[in-house]
Amino acid sequence: DMRTLLDFRYRTIFRADRGRHGTSKKRRGRSGEDVIIPVPPGTVVFDLDLDRQVADLVAVGQTLLVARGGEGGKGNAAFATPSRQAPRFCQRGTLGEKRHLKLSLKLLADVGVIGYPNVGKSSLISVVSAARPDIAPYHFTTLQPNLGVVKFDDFTSFVVADMPGLIVGAHRGVGLGDQFLKHIERTRLLVHVLDASGSEGRDPLEDHREINNELALFKSELAEIEQVVALNKMDLPQARENLPELRAALEAEGLTVFPISAATRQGVDALLNHLRTRLVDMGLEPDQELPEKMHFEMPELLFRELQVERVTPDVIVVSGTAVEKLAATTDTDADESLNWLQHSLDRQGVLKALRRAGAEEGDTIIVGDIEFFYTLSPSEETERRLKAEEREGGLGD
Ligand code: GDP
Ligand code: MG
Repeated sequence: DMRTLLDFRYRTIFRADRGRHGTSKKRRGRSGEDVIIPVPPGTVVFDLDLDRQVADLVAVGQTLLVARGGEGGKGNAAFATPSRQAPRFCQRGTLGEKRHLKLSLKLLADVGVIGYPNVGKSSLISVVSAARPDIAPYHFTTLQPNLGVVKFDDFTSFVVADMPGLIVGAHRGVGLGDQFLKHIERTRLLVHVLDASGSEGRDPLEDHREINNELALFKSELAEIEQVVALNKMDLPQARENLPELRAALEAEGLTVFPISAATRQGVDALLNHLRTRLVDMGLEPDQELPEKMHFEMPELLFRELQVERVTPDVIVVSGTAVEKLAATTDTDADESLNWLQHSLDRQGVLKALRRAGAEEGDTIIVGDIEFFYTLSPSEETERRLKAEEREGGLGD
């Protein structure tokens, strides 16, 4: 039932609860509760770090897994060996993922209603659907697009949306039009409403040209969406008088024309039936368009290879997906755990890479949020010891 992204004006940071600690008897801690953020259908999700669109949530029930929680660390029991039955170290959990996303909304309407202000767009929507948009005899009454569902006796239905504020200059941001123009991109049909009576002193054909020009300036594809013209206000004598000439001119351009009166509902059913027929012809039963995909996942953040970089004369930074994960899960309070880290760094080829990078006695090595001094002789000794222990099946103590 959500229609807008207004909720996100007031709240922009969402954070799931943390998991609980494990307990004795090798029991795992409870996972944190998931946070579910509802968005309206038509929400496009863009990842600002990856600089790309990651999901287009068009249907009710579609989901996007935005961020996974961190993995819980292993308890000390996981590091027990025959020779070390009660290790005094454990593994820290990994950090949860953080994402920086931009949400934007594109309305999902089958039929868009366009036209100059005051031609009767809102009136038309109000007589064809249960929507009750503002109707008033002055311009810019509508600041939000109105959505209405047109229902037929055979239970087929389609969604119409009023695209307000479309005036000359809208593509440049005049009159709020540009905010709404982007919604039109999704529609499959456009009803171009003209005030056939010319009650405001404008020429309806001129209006038609100007609005179409505005659409094309905003985006050329918009001008290619199939259009039907509704000549409105046919209850007024002036409109009936103008009808033959307007119809002839528009039909000469190959357009389908419907004289209607939103006020008396005259001609409205013929228009609706035509819209339904066209939508069905386009191969999509109204309301039955099933999305191909119900669940989206974020693209993997790129796996970064091991990198060793001397950043100042005596500081070397080691980075890479695997090694950073290792550092994040190391419990730096336990000596045993640091030995395990050193062993693992060796296995990942980090010690070799450091030697190749010319690491010297006393250099500070930074891996993730862990810092240590590089020492030459003990490390080789440790290596030998670790290798020996590995042969015995132990993990180094
Ligand atoms: P919008 O700006 O295009 O949404 O136009 P509205 O639906 O708000 O209508 C603008 C004005 O035109 C209102 O005063 C309506 O009552 C009037 N209007 C709309 N449709 C008709 C119609 O079919 N006949 C007549 N006589 N007036 C209409
Ligand atoms: Mg309106």
